[in-house]
Amino acid sequence: MKCRHCGSALRCNFLDLGFAPPSNAYLTAADLSKPEVYFPLRLKVCEECWLVQTEDYTSAESLFSAEYAYFSSASRSWLAHAARYVETITTRLGLGQESMVIEVASNDGYLLKNFVASNIPCLGVEPTASTAEAAEALGIPVLREFFGEALGKTLADEGRSADLILGNNVYAHVPDINDFTRGLKAALKPGGTITLEFPHLMRLIEQNQFDTVYHEHFSYLSLFTVGKIFENAGLRVFDVEELPTHGGSLRVYGCHTDDPRQTTNAVGLLLSEEEYQGLRTAATYAEFQVKAEQVKNDVLAFLLQAKREGKTVAAYGAAAKGNTLLNFAGVKPDLLSFVCDAAAAKQDKFMPGSHIPILHPDVIFERRPDYVMILPWNIAAEVRQQLASLAEQGTKFATAVPELKVA
Ligand SMILES: [Zn+2]
Repeated sequence: MKCRHCGSALRCNFLDLGFAPPSNAYLTAADLSKPEVYFPLRLKVCEECWLVQTEDYTSAESLFSAEYAYFSSASRSWLAHAARYVETITTRLGLGQESMVIEVASNDGYLLKNFVASNIPCLGVEPTASTAEAAEALGIPVLREFFGEALGKTLADEGRSADLILGNNVYAHVPDINDFTRGLKAALKPGGTITLEFPHLMRLIEQNQFDTVYHEHFSYLSLFTVGKIFENAGLRVFDVEELPTHGGSLRVYGCHTDDPRQTTNAVGLLLSEEEYQGLRTAATYAEFQVKAEQVKNDVLAFLLQAKREGKTVAAYGAAAKGNTLLNFAGVKPDLLSFVCDAAAAKQDKFMPGSHIPILHPDVIFERRPDYVMILPWNIAAEVRQQLASLAEQGTKFATAVPELKVA
């Protein structure tokens, strides 16, 4: 296998989570009597450009045909994050009625609606029909296509080049990251700005976030590697910010290579920190598997001990990261009887692989389990607050990452 960015042979393993079904392939009761498709879930790292990437396997396209679509507007904190971004970037770039903003993976219009409200012309690119419809209902024009070089060139030919192109949590999800980046270049006006947000590989390693690995995520990115990919496409990263979202993300600011804007100190500082953290050293990647297995073993030991003691364990949050953890650990409903989730689309379905039933949050208050495992650790504080009355009645809470904690 060759590196998806630079084409070098990939020899260095980073993480092997065995085989798992697509993390968002939630099952109905009827599905439980059918066979389930598993794909290998393995990551390698390129020792030339340090791009961490999923191993190739056949029928990657089928992953995106899943019926379940994530609607960004479902998360209040994410909506607030988007609104703050629009306010800041509008001022920073001086965007107005003559400007053009393109968002790649515009989802349900959770972000672009803020530009519509300010009368700044915008365009969404979103291949998922259900979310694109929701955005159109808000008055946002949407192209229902996958973004890449061909679409970028078409937009430029049609006079729809952008002053700002943004992509939140899409860069790590594209199979051909070079083609996608050339698309950004093609659709960007001279003097235009690109902003991309993606989870930071440095935090993934530091915080042991192996459960954020799933098939739909093709790349795990450092600033160093993104800089290389940009450079290769005739672009330059001129600024970067660290964000707390998704366990630690980066927002990179890009421009054409020959843009007069100077590269900020933040870029150099973060590149140095990445190097200091060992992101350009093969040994750093080679050690990660052991850390992931430690969590898996601890989670299993905890669940087995609870079972022996006759205690009940449920989970909260039927998130993709929960599926990665449960499938890696081979947990089934005998050890973890049910999971509650507020999203109606997931309720009365089953977790892929583990087949743990997903129930309405009310159930957790009725059954009062001895332990609640909070699968989306990034919102653990919020969940604990929601379940505070259970804690008063003696329920204890567990989180698995960065290490198993029960309290
Ligand atoms: Zn490479």
